[in-house]
Amino acid sequence: MMSICAGTDFPGAHDQSGNNDEESLHFGIDDTDNRTGGCTTHLAFKIIERIIRDTNAHFVDYPLLIRLNPNVPWKTRGNAAVCIRLTSDKKDQQRIIDIVKHYVETEAVVGSGADPGVVLFRGHQLPEAITEFSKTAMCDILRRRDAIRLAEKYKIEYFLLGKGRGIIGSLAAIGCLLEGDHTFEAIAYRRPENVGTPRILEPDKIIEFSRSTFPYTFNNFDFRHKRVLIAPHGPDPVFCGIRGENPHIVLSSLKSLNIEERLEGCMVFRSNQGTNMHLLSEIKLPEAKSFTSGHIRCTVRSRPHIAQGGHTLFYVENRDGSSLPVAVYEPTGLAKTASFLAEGDVLELGCGIRRASIKHPKILNVEYFMVLELAKVFVLRNPTCTICSKSMKSEGKGKGFQCKKCKLRESSELNKVSIQIPRAISTGMYIPTPKAHRHLTKPMHRFGLEKLSSDYSEELPILGNWIILDQLCSENYQNQ
Ligand SMILES: [Zn+2]
Repeated sequence: MMSICAGTDFPGAHDQSGNNDEESLHFGIDDTDNRTGGCTTHLAFKIIERIIRDTNAHFVDYPLLIRLNPNVPWKTRGNAAVCIRLTSDKKDQQRIIDIVKHYVETEAVVGSGADPGVVLFRGHQLPEAITEFSKTAMCDILRRRDAIRLAEKYKIEYFLLGKGRGIIGSLAAIGCLLEGDHTFEAIAYRRPENVGTPRILEPDKIIEFSRSTFPYTFNNFDFRHKRVLIAPHGPDPVFCGIRGENPHIVLSSLKSLNIEERLEGCMVFRSNQGTNMHLLSEIKLPEAKSFTSGHIRCTVRSRPHIAQGGHTLFYVENRDGSSLPVAVYEPTGLAKTASFLAEGDVLELGCGIRRASIKHPKILNVEYFMVLELAKVFVLRNPTCTICSKSMKSEGKGKGFQCKKCKLRESSELNKVSIQIPRAISTGMYIPTPKAHRHLTKPMHRFGLEKLSSDYSEELPILGNWIILDQLCSENYQNQ
């Protein structure tokens, strides 16, 4: 047995007791894809398909699809890592390890942007240092050498290709227990011969399941822009993915699409997508690090203005008096609304920190804003005429006022009057439009649906309920 410090039980650990021959294996896989193709979740699908076919392994959790800090500049498309947790008897272990290595070696697109990393932890209890590392990876920048040092300290086996930067995400993936809030995604995969051809999806069917499953699925269809959100574009092995609150609803929604294309299969992942996990920690000013993510409570300190490109810019200050500029970008769909903010408004901002350049200091890039308190806004108006109640006209600085209608004059001793004006924005939460959502963005209707307990034992994966090999489409063929 490996010596392990006091740590955290991983989900399902207690169900595995009593069999001394069985050992828990936790695989983390990251950075196998580049910007033009390949996909870490697809690799996980193929690995799991093979493990099911060739070994007697038991899966103790759904495969995890873990999204890491989206503000890391060198991420691939979605900065996704995968974790596979299983138990197996001694005789199957080496076979499983060989399967994982084989697929990473042959499928990862090393040399064109991927720097794969695979880690393997054996044991029932994850060291706390690994779960802490994972928490940091959600919102901060980690170095490859820190990951290697940690892996060596806790005797975590690792296997790296290319520059091996994938060790960071793979370690973060096994350390992510998703004990709190989490969601599910059913992903359907295309056969190799179809990759690159147009995906045939009926928007009506997407709209239908989206309405009937509300609020338990999310980001299926952007009703405002009439856009399908479940399918990627381009030469990706993913046909489509449906996100929601439980494994059953995402899978039944997928089936309701009656996809005509013959697929390779589909698999349900448990995930931190749609949870705002990267924004959980508080951003401290002025020491906020570039590329980190988090949230901050602050006060608006300058009147917002809309800059070229439709982005809204203003300054905020925290309670210690440190200030930073804030940008609300046009594509978020929030820029116009943010322009109605005023000096003195109290906000909570979810944001990523953009690096300073020669042209500008560090900037808080807004991912959501919550208006906590609205300041009272006054404007100075000319006094009204005492005879006809019309607003008077200024005769020039220090020259008094005159009524345009009855020509009544008033001396300059009469002051302008301060009038409180109604605000064009109210308190509450403002989040980007669905098509601008990042994978981690929590959709509006998930607020209040957050899962709080780690007790999802009723949902523990039963094989066949979360991975479908080729069946989704053969059913359709049989129906024809
Ligand atoms: Zn008048």
